[in-house]
Amino acid sequence: MQFISTRGGEKVTGAQAIVQGLAKNGGLFVPESFPTITHEEILAMEDMSYPERAAFVLGKYLGEELGADYLLESCEKAYAGFEGRDPVPLVKVDGESGLYVLELFHGPTCAFKDMALTVLPYLLKKSCEVTGIKDDILILAATSGDTGKAALEGFRDVEGTKVAVFFPDEGVAKMQRLQMCTQHGDNVIVASVEGNFDDCQRGVKNLFADEAFNAELAKKGVRLSSANSINFGRLAPQIAYYFSAYVDLISSRQIQMGDAVDFVVPTGNFGDILAGWYAKQMGLPVRKLVCASNRNKVLADFFKKGVYDVKRDFHRTMSPSMDILVSSNLERLLFEVSGRNAELTAQRMQELAEKKEYSITDEEKAKLDQDFFAGFAREDDTVEAMYEIFDEFGYAMDTHTGVALAVYMQWKERLYKIDKKDKTPIIVLSTANPYKFPQDVLYALSGNDVKDSFKGIKRLQLLTAMKPPKCLMELRYRVPRFKIKVKSNLKEMAEVVMRLADGEIVPEPEQKK
Ligand SMILES: *Cc1c(COP(=O)(O)O)cnc(C)c1O
Repeated sequence: MQFISTRGGEKVTGAQAIVQGLAKNGGLFVPESFPTITHEEILAMEDMSYPERAAFVLGKYLGEELGADYLLESCEKAYAGFEGRDPVPLVKVDGESGLYVLELFHGPTCAFKDMALTVLPYLLKKSCEVTGIKDDILILAATSGDTGKAALEGFRDVEGTKVAVFFPDEGVAKMQRLQMCTQHGDNVIVASVEGNFDDCQRGVKNLFADEAFNAELAKKGVRLSSANSINFGRLAPQIAYYFSAYVDLISSRQIQMGDAVDFVVPTGNFGDILAGWYAKQMGLPVRKLVCASNRNKVLADFFKKGVYDVKRDFHRTMSPSMDILVSSNLERLLFEVSGRNAELTAQRMQELAEKKEYSITDEEKAKLDQDFFAGFAREDDTVEAMYEIFDEFGYAMDTHTGVALAVYMQWKERLYKIDKKDKTPIIVLSTANPYKFPQDVLYALSGNDVKDSFKGIKRLQLLTAMKPPKCLMELRYRVPRFKIKVKSNLKEMAEVVMRLADGEIVPEPEQKK
């Protein structure tokens, strides 16, 4: 299968798209056409394990090039590291109204980024082989908290790769910072960047685009690639869980093949929800994709008005992984909704860069309305939704999922006005373990404030009787290894990457006990 750039000009294979990350003209790679999965194929997934399902869906895009057996082996290894029997359980929260939660957070870093970033190293390795690349691949990532840790963990000590992660100094939760700054591995570096996530992401994009910097890396036998969801290799494994959730509903006889379902997705960079839209293009019976934003509601406004406008204040919220104004992956949807007009897409992206806004036509907006409903949640809406679901059903969720639940309630209200008897199952995607944001979750569920994250975990455990995950508990006594802080300019960020390219290993500090 071939991949083309949303801004035109380039056509590459899947392996090339994965190795390169971004098209040369700054566009994103999209499949030349959408492969389909038939109803018979969906039914056949009933008897498959999750890794088998994931490999099957991935195979539709990458099977020919990377090999079906290789994909299966990769998915099996990747998801073997997840806690629990089922790596992606679908939890029935309220059978009466048809509310389900798809838990995507059982991976090694307790957030949904693990769904793709545990698989990506395998995809990248094979893609390098197939394309004959001998250079070391340096994964460069800007993170709003969860991608960074998942990339570090996924690529740690993987031969032929290095990982440099930049996070906004004041934009990540305590636990996320601790996870990243205590990372082990000889091929990693982590730095915080002054400013918010958008500053951080812009800095990283500038590094990708800087020819002199890339040439210098090339001399050292190093080439850059991306683990952000702009990389198709990151997007592809996310498509699978939409199918898997649907198949689980069939297996448990909640629906019959062909029945439509809704998905509610807490959104930042538009990567997770775009994968759902891809699943729909491939033939999954999806009625609506509900796009849930926090106070940084650029996307909610975009779906409402047809204008993408980033000229607004940036808010720090208790769902930091969604504190984003420029949603990179929306470009892929824009490209599709414009009728795959690359010239127009490029023009809009330029407008965004220069004037900080662009708009789509009424016709395009009408097309989006068919597939999407969008809403946003203020902080107190989120807290209320988390409390209500816990109070009524005993289900505890993290703050990002709380945003989704708050918007789910808006969607339910809308549905009720249209048809009081609507019983279409609604699946909310849960993107992080509640213990990853213990203080905010504790506050939402009980009104209690605690100063210390680990005290928060303890209290939360008493309240919910849920077992805290190992990967967070073991952080308790760890001394941070990375204390690098830079400005978001090219020079300072490039220096950090160069240290890693030169093979410098930041020493592990002495631990307290
Ligand atoms: C990354 C992330 C999101 C947003 O996902 P996108 O792909 O950026 O839309 C939501 N919740 C959590 C916990 C995340 O880590």
